[in-house]
Amino acid sequence: MDNEVDISKVVRQHLEMEQGLAGFALRGEPAAPEAQDQEDNMAAADKAAELEKIAEEVRPCCKCGLGSSRTNAVPGEGNPNARIMFVGEAPGADEDAQGRPFVGRAGQLLDKIIAACGLKRSDVFIGNILKCRPPGNRDPRPEEIISCLPYLQRQIEIIEPEVLVALGAHAAKTLLNTTKSIGQLRGQFHEYIAGIGRPPVKLMATYHPAYLLRNYSPDNRRKVWEDMKKVLAELDLPVPQ
Ligand code: URA
Repeated sequence: MDNEVDISKVVRQHLEMEQGLAGFALRGEPAAPEAQDQEDNMAAADKAAELEKIAEEVRPCCKCGLGSSRTNAVPGEGNPNARIMFVGEAPGADEDAQGRPFVGRAGQLLDKIIAACGLKRSDVFIGNILKCRPPGNRDPRPEEIISCLPYLQRQIEIIEPEVLVALGAHAAKTLLNTTKSIGQLRGQFHEYIAGIGRPPVKLMATYHPAYLLRNYSPDNRRKVWEDMKKVLAELDLPVPQ
């Protein structure tokens, strides 16, 4: 049974091992400064091309069992130069049918949240921890997260968002490598560790739109709006009243 496995622990151990190995590999070979500059200055067109390369890898991916049950993989979509990147859990039935993230009921609520921020969907990038739908929308399994996470990590490296917004517990716990609950994590900025030699990215955790739909109380709506207002303030964007 899934509950017998501490998902966060397994994923955390894996990530810690990977980070350790990355440090080991890099220590002997520091990146040349000019290579670093080139990376920093990656133009929007180059970013779009790099993101498309990842999408082309994701669409036929069979690294975990979800490859055989999905209809379409959902690589993610949006502005390659997005200042804000939203990260959800995994595609649902509508996303699986269309190959696009957040296009079902939760997606419509996310669209409203984005609009309430004075932004358009095309201003931001929207991705997920898992690129394929778990059957029946069950929770992601540790081995699925471990197989899939490198795609998202590469997308974040390319886009270099100023703020990541983790939607829900699975996204927040995975990106922050923690076992804390979404209730503990939301409402304050954390740091997403982007890798050795890369600056950390500010991360705001908030409730998943699907949770909000199931628990549509004024209090929960206010909390999500408070979280998003902090994101807008962090980016010096106007906060619509
Ligand atoms: N829920 C998610 O977490 N991601 C989607 O893309 C859609 C619903």
